[in-house]
Amino acid sequence: MKEKFDVIVIGAGIGGLSAAIFFAKYEKKVLVLEKHYIPGGYLTSFSRKNYQFDSGVFHLTDMGEQETIPMFIRFWGNKIESEKVNYKFKIFNGEDSYIIYGKTAQSDLVKYFPSDEKAIKYFFDLSSQMMNQTLSMGAPKAPYEMSFWEKLLFGIKAVTKTPTFLRFGRKNGRIFFKKLFKDKNLATIIYSYYPISSLILFGFSFGWTNLLKDENYYPIGGMQAIPDAMVSSLKQNHGEIKLSSEVKRIIVEKEKAVGVECLDGSKYYANIIISNSPIHYTLNKLLDSYSQFDSQRKQIAEREIFCSVMLNFLGMDEAFDYQGTNFFIIMDKNGLELKEKDLTPENCPILMIVLPKPEKQKGDSILIGAFLPYDYNNYWSTNNSKIRGEEYKKTKEEVFKIILERITRKLGEDFQQAIKFSLASTPLTLERYTYNEKGSIMGWKMDKKNYGKFFRHETAIDNLFLVGQWTFPGGGVPGAMAGGYYLAKNILAKESINLEADMARKAK
Ligand SMILES: Cc1cc2nc3c(=O)[nH]c(=O)nc-3n(C[C@H](O)[C@H](O)[C@H](O)COP(=O)(O)OP(=O)(O)OC[C@H]3O[C@@H](n4cnc5c(N)ncnc54)[C@H](O)[C@@H]3O)c2cc1C
Repeated sequence: MKEKFDVIVIGAGIGGLSAAIFFAKYEKKVLVLEKHYIPGGYLTSFSRKNYQFDSGVFHLTDMGEQETIPMFIRFWGNKIESEKVNYKFKIFNGEDSYIIYGKTAQSDLVKYFPSDEKAIKYFFDLSSQMMNQTLSMGAPKAPYEMSFWEKLLFGIKAVTKTPTFLRFGRKNGRIFFKKLFKDKNLATIIYSYYPISSLILFGFSFGWTNLLKDENYYPIGGMQAIPDAMVSSLKQNHGEIKLSSEVKRIIVEKEKAVGVECLDGSKYYANIIISNSPIHYTLNKLLDSYSQFDSQRKQIAEREIFCSVMLNFLGMDEAFDYQGTNFFIIMDKNGLELKEKDLTPENCPILMIVLPKPEKQKGDSILIGAFLPYDYNNYWSTNNSKIRGEEYKKTKEEVFKIILERITRKLGEDFQQAIKFSLASTPLTLERYTYNEKGSIMGWKMDKKNYGKFFRHETAIDNLFLVGQWTFPGGGVPGAMAGGYYLAKNILAKESINLEADMARKAK
């Protein structure tokens, strides 16, 4: 007997889960297949030696009561508890260091750099204007879904409502700061919040404006609480999830996607197949024999992607005193001049976050992101093969040691001695766990050339759709979650279900 579903979703990342729950809520028979033994993709947590860690995500946004994540979870009939996070940053730039609080970041910066007061005000005003203007446009519609007239109207509305964004938003952030601020230390500090050389100015404006808003929340129970709440929403709505179930191919018959086959040989069939498996993996592996995707394969191979990161995890002795700082950043003195390809263990930007810890945990859990490229040392000493052997392990440990030494030089020997547990990963680890191409943490590159250019959910094959950070409306947790909504909205509209209206009614 063939087991038949209405909808099969490949991958329990945030985009996949979001789409799955929307369909389940409208009484579709839904199955999610996830290769890992926990749901969440990039948004997961894990425990080792009595320490709980999040597997990534540096600055989660949209966790306020009226923002995307809690709002969606409420719509699905569930809830998520969170605690407020007050950020205290210590930013090291070469030999200098600066303390900056999230809520008072602007005035803190003025205290350190009084001669740049005007430029600081200009940056923060510009940023909040851009944020307000883009918000005033309302929920976005995918450009490729707009009719000619809709596009024309959108264009006119954008010119009148978002002039600052149109003029400045897509400029390169790093170059903009170098020109704007007289003091290069200040430029480096502003840049250090998202130290990615290709990132557009709007990315930095988004980050710093969110800090000043002082509306930062952390899910109680860790980041895993978000996918867990999503899985329980799925089950409440009679959807099914099978973990440790890797899909090896999408079954296509007569130009239509009809099912999937898993590594263990099990087959599942459905009217709609949605892949949350990253786009490169979906087209090149799950659909490798279908020539219909040749032009899209070429397109994705040529398109640039967002950077990856080396993630390190530390379990600390409870006695170590961070003096209230929960976010450390270490920048090389020359950090503002370094492009992604120039980064080495000795000079790369390091972000170090002291994670809010579970009630019963004694020492702190620390997440360290070191911005090192995927292709460092021929894919981290695998001769570009990605086959992880002794050389890979050795290189990973050597790089980790250098990163720790750089941190210890700033925080003192006590820091090194307080480490009770450590674990290092590389961009290859991110790729291996999620199949995101080259461990890209956000999908496509967010530079002038690529920002806002979306891949569709629809594909060249009937009944097959894509969702997640590589498709509209793009990367980040709220973006991937919104992607599930847009995809479900369009498909459900064919059955006269108005998801947008239902969401608006519930939000009231
Ligand atoms: C270090 C780091 C920091 C980040 N910081 C932030 C931040 O501060 N704020 C923010 O908003 N976002 C941040 N992000 C980005 C954010 O986490 C992602 O954009 C988002 O979670 C991606 O969701 P997704 O739906 O695309 O799925 P993914 O997370 O890519 O998950 C895809 C899922 O599909 C599964 N899968 C793949 N192939 C198969 C298969 N063949 N069969 C079965 N299952 C399969 C994978 O196991 C995985 O669970 C960060 C990411 C990282 C890594």
